[in-house]
Amino acid sequence: MKYHNVIAMDGPAASGKSTIGRMLADKLNYLFLDTGCMYRAVTLAVLENGVDVADETAVTQLAIQLDLDIQPANEEEDGRHYSVFINGQDVTWDIRRPDVDATVSQISSYLAVRQEMVRRQREFGQRGNVVMVGRDIGTVVMPDAPLKLYITASAEERARRRWLDREKQGHADGFAETLTDVERRDQIDSNRKHSPLRPAADAIIIDTTNRSPETIIAEILQLAIESSVSS
Ligand code: C5P
Repeated sequence: MKYHNVIAMDGPAASGKSTIGRMLADKLNYLFLDTGCMYRAVTLAVLENGVDVADETAVTQLAIQLDLDIQPANEEEDGRHYSVFINGQDVTWDIRRPDVDATVSQISSYLAVRQEMVRRQREFGQRGNVVMVGRDIGTVVMPDAPLKLYITASAEERARRRWLDREKQGHADGFAETLTDVERRDQIDSNRKHSPLRPAADAIIIDTTNRSPETIIAEILQLAIESSVSS
């Protein structure tokens, strides 16, 4: 299936892809979908419903039935960029909890969970004019996207960003713990059997270490023009 006016952005945890993706979507007046929030929502529902994380069948069942809604944020006063609802309940901040971080990579390694999320993501992608961010957007979800980017940064830089975010949200993890979590998730996401984290063969790799979001956005807008995603 061909997707028009779609920018696929993948990369490891806290590489800056969500911040950049959202800014880019704003500039282009595109829709923005951070697919990580979908795997996080499934994980939160698993934890809240007391489902055994290791029970792949039960987790899959829950993922298929999950009433999940993602809406652009009307107000950004609490720092949110979009709102996530499960059964109509706002879980935008709950999906960022440390226990979700600790479990999400296991949940997202399950094939049938991925298939269900990919189905929902492709539906969204068909609307066109979309920036979609995740781990497998360029490789699996929308391999025909006209522009594929792989956003990365050093592990220390990524952990530092995640740690600062966490501090703002009132979670008091130490830096060393945050670095360990980021590296552990990368390890699981990169080595899983289904849709491992990796750049698409034709993705453009952008290292955000020590670079401001503004300079990166300018670079990507130029790439978007060159790839005729946007004119
Ligand atoms: O991007 P974020 O850190 O919110 O993603 C949380 C987790 O969701 C990742 O560590 C990964 O396990 C999973 N994920 C995925 N495929 C995607 C997006 C996220 O497996 N497209």
